[in-house]
Amino acid sequence: MRTELHRQPTSPLTAVRNLGILAHVDAGKTTVTERILYLTGAVHKRGEVHDGTTVTDYDSQERDRGITIFAAAVSCTWDGHRINLIDTPGHVDFSDEVERSLRVLDGAIAVFDAVAGVEPQSESVWRQADRHGVPRIAFVNKLDRAGADLDAAVASIRDRLHTVPLAVQLPIGSEDGFTGVVDLLRMRALVWADGRDTYEEGQVPDGLREEARRRRRLLEETVAELHPAALEEFCAESSVSERTLTAALRDLTRTGEAVVVLCGSAYRNRGIEPLLEAAVAFLPSPLDVPPVRGTLDGAVQERAADPAAPLAALVFKVNSTDTGRLAFLRVYSGTIRKGDTVLDAGTRRHERIGRILRVQAGRHSDVDTAVAGDIVAVIGLKAARTGATLCAPAAPLVLEPPTSADPVVSVA
Ligand code: GDP
Repeated sequence: MRTELHRQPTSPLTAVRNLGILAHVDAGKTTVTERILYLTGAVHKRGEVHDGTTVTDYDSQERDRGITIFAAAVSCTWDGHRINLIDTPGHVDFSDEVERSLRVLDGAIAVFDAVAGVEPQSESVWRQADRHGVPRIAFVNKLDRAGADLDAAVASIRDRLHTVPLAVQLPIGSEDGFTGVVDLLRMRALVWADGRDTYEEGQVPDGLREEARRRRRLLEETVAELHPAALEEFCAESSVSERTLTAALRDLTRTGEAVVVLCGSAYRNRGIEPLLEAAVAFLPSPLDVPPVRGTLDGAVQERAADPAAPLAALVFKVNSTDTGRLAFLRVYSGTIRKGDTVLDAGTRRHERIGRILRVQAGRHSDVDTAVAGDIVAVIGLKAARTGATLCAPAAPLVLEPPTSADPVVSVA
């Protein structure tokens, strides 16, 4: 059922985004991830780090700290939102791992190469994401490359992924001369000066004004066709507002009826800031996704993302590090506290939560609790494996098996 067009935030969980980055090998997943981590770190310390050597700095920091390299999830903060980036393996050989990581994220950014468009691996990961009902936005990367063609890439998304791509940007300049984008929602130009990773907003260049208007009209028409409630609001407004259009795009993204497409050059740090803005605007928070399902004594149960409910958390990756056995988990319901004794629902073994870590780029911080909707790493689990459910001993629950795309079946 469709949600209301304008919803109001109701809890701090609305500011959490658990996201994956999906891509064909070489499309630029690593570069996009690094740029996001850099930009979100750089924005914390705006004015301090602007020397353009951060990727190298970040790499060496990472080697020094030893934990981030094993990170299955890295947290960063953007515009008051916590973004947990969950690693999704790019190789088809790791298909099971892709499935597992798709389970714990609420939304994804699909990265495409602006020259190659949709490639075979992007197709297979896209299908997996379809099966898991993961809402996506698309980022057409490498707009600086010779032969880059946003329109052709958008057409390949339509034809090969059988979805409705909704381009919300128009590139300014091409290949070496790619300097920015026209944001078709705000009808403003976002331009990156050389060496800057945050954009400057200005008027749409004269030469692009007509084309930008044409594309905006087309965008409104397509959205109106797909979203009757939006059409009603469009008709009620003298001109369609950015807010109404954004709300409609958010609905279409979350129902999977359409995919918002952005573009840029991760390598040149162009387009990453609007990508983060779009991720926050369009992709769901843990409260916007259906409750997780599991089995309790053979009966299927649903658990909402409620910090006050009994604990249910899924271990989705375990790594050995110098600091100890590091288990990454998604908390689906309840609250996990440092020092807690929890039950591994599958093995019926009790485990103790020694430390809870939030892993950030190049560092990690200890936290005392993690609540429903969150993704953290835990140290202290002796035996719990990837795929284990950790739960409150008084309310055991086994979350559905990692590789099953089907609804939970009773195991009684
Ligand atoms: P991944 O395999 O998807 O993680 O891709 P990478 O991030 O490792 O990028 C693959 C190659 O493409 C590397 O050589 C990158 O430097 C390059 N690359 C990434 N983003 C861009 C971009 O925006 N423009 C250009 N020209 N090259 C890029």
